[in-house]
Amino acid sequence: MNTNADPQELSKFSELAHRWWDAAGEFKPLHAINPLRLDWIDRLAPLRGRRVLDVGCGGGILAESMAARGADVTGIDLAAKPLKVATLHALEAGIEGLRYREVAAEQLAQEQAATYDVVTCMEMLEHVPRPDSVVRACAALAKPGGHVFFSTINRNAKAFALAIVGAEHVLKLLPKGTHEYARFVRPSELARWCRDAGLDVLDLKGMQYNPLTERYWLSGDTSVNYLLACARPQ
Ligand code: SAH
Repeated sequence: MNTNADPQELSKFSELAHRWWDAAGEFKPLHAINPLRLDWIDRLAPLRGRRVLDVGCGGGILAESMAARGADVTGIDLAAKPLKVATLHALEAGIEGLRYREVAAEQLAQEQAATYDVVTCMEMLEHVPRPDSVVRACAALAKPGGHVFFSTINRNAKAFALAIVGAEHVLKLLPKGTHEYARFVRPSELARWCRDAGLDVLDLKGMQYNPLTERYWLSGDTSVNYLLACARPQ
């Protein structure tokens, strides 16, 4: 068993695996934000023909969309069922250049150091006991000159009110217990872990949601959901 994984977190995602591709179900927010993050990644690191690793890929929403843009994608996760769902979905969709593996980022970094043009790790760090270790592994997996992208949730009163009370209890966008406040990560902490792992921070964007229009957009407001782009120096 990987020591940097929380079995309860993994079983939570495994239990919901069959719902992963229901765009109106428990994973609706991931479906809704996917075009935004995909375009942002593709703009900073054009995906066509690139070797891409998606860490904590779950049922493959981002991984599959990156493969559809012409990247050669490997998705990894430690929850077995979401990986099965991801594999079947890719098969059904007829997407090529996409494979999934049950392996920890830290272990893959031992096997495949400096291998990937792009490493993505979205909405995953806030489910892991030692997120800094995942950041280090992602940095090690990127080629010199490659890009590394993260997204997670900020830790402050507003993030607690919107991401937990609002999203889980009031709007019921996410199942109760999806997120634990103490695991949220401040942008300054994530940026420090990235710099400590030898990465240069390139871009920091906030992700906003309007519950009335049900729309998401990228902005400068990183107080709740945010994305961070880094590059591994040549
Ligand atoms: N990155 C995907 C899924 C986010 S849900 C997306 O944004 O669309 C969070 C995922 O992180 C789940 O699939 C869960 O199984 C995975 N996860 C949690 N802890 C993990 C760990 N220690 N190692 C790898 N994946 C993990």
